[in-house]
Amino acid sequence: MFFSDVLGQELPIKIIQNAIKKEKCAHAYLFVGPEGVGKKSTAFAFARLLNCKNRIAIDSKGEKHESNGDNLDLQDINIYDSCGECISCKKIKKGIHPDVSFIYPEKKDIRINQMRVLKYQAQFKPMEGRWKVYIIDKAHMMNKESANSVLKLLEEPPDKVLIILIAQNKYGILPTIISRCQVIKFNLLPSDLIIRSLKEKYNIEEKKALFFSRLSHGSIGKAFSCCEEKMDETKKKADLLISKMKKGDFISLFSESEKLSFSKEKEELKKILNIMIVFYREKMYENPTSEYIKILEVILQTKESIKRNINVGLALDEMFLNVNKIMENKKFAEII
Ligand SMILES: [Zn+2]
Repeated sequence: MFFSDVLGQELPIKIIQNAIKKEKCAHAYLFVGPEGVGKKSTAFAFARLLNCKNRIAIDSKGEKHESNGDNLDLQDINIYDSCGECISCKKIKKGIHPDVSFIYPEKKDIRINQMRVLKYQAQFKPMEGRWKVYIIDKAHMMNKESANSVLKLLEEPPDKVLIILIAQNKYGILPTIISRCQVIKFNLLPSDLIIRSLKEKYNIEEKKALFFSRLSHGSIGKAFSCCEEKMDETKKKADLLISKMKKGDFISLFSESEKLSFSKEKEELKKILNIMIVFYREKMYENPTSEYIKILEVILQTKESIKRNINVGLALDEMFLNVNKIMENKKFAEII
């Protein structure tokens, strides 16, 4: 939970670090951006830097300055971060700091009871740190009452209380809440950065890192979970389906769709379809033909149908048949 652990979000981090150094923090921030790009890590690094007892500043030459870097001008500071060693940093890391709270949806939404606790606590001064920090994850899932409760708090923000709302986009958040927040946008990460960090962190080969980076579409969180989950097995299942589709091996394909329709793992099926999409997209780049576009459309439609809870077995059978129809084109059959 150092800022240096957050990859590829230099601008949001710079905005936050400057605000803390100048002691001009807003009372509320809205971190907006796709899933898995570092919003939550940045929020915790923010909470830690605010409350750290021995902030560290690193100058442009890479030299470390302790004690808040007070001997440096702001423009000379390259990185401004928490120490990671003081009691406050340690407590935040363990999730036991009394002044730093993390709120997330319980089941379907963020409920009014969760907000009541927040509002009650917010009226008191920080117990141990400089600031009370409330990180509200998936803020678009606040129900109407919860959102109104946050709005009231933001209308008259108590001193030394910071609220960080995290959401994938602004939709679903009251405009009156947004207007009271400083909005910080988080972007998707470039693939070379994802490939490099996957290779460093998981010691995997270039080809695999490239594949996972394409599968994760710029989300470092998704790329990491590809490495941590048993993605190899999922990839094997996807490769098997691709090869059977190529052969037009229907008996076997229908039995696969039956197996998959009984599986409770809808998430895995989604991953299998995503791997197929990456596979055919790459094929399309190698050989730009309209057939690959049609295959991609069929798979995307299948994904949508499954999302809408349409019978999984039927949706897959239809996908296999439709892809086969496309593959029947003789010229196309020669290049696949
Ligand atoms: Zn510290």
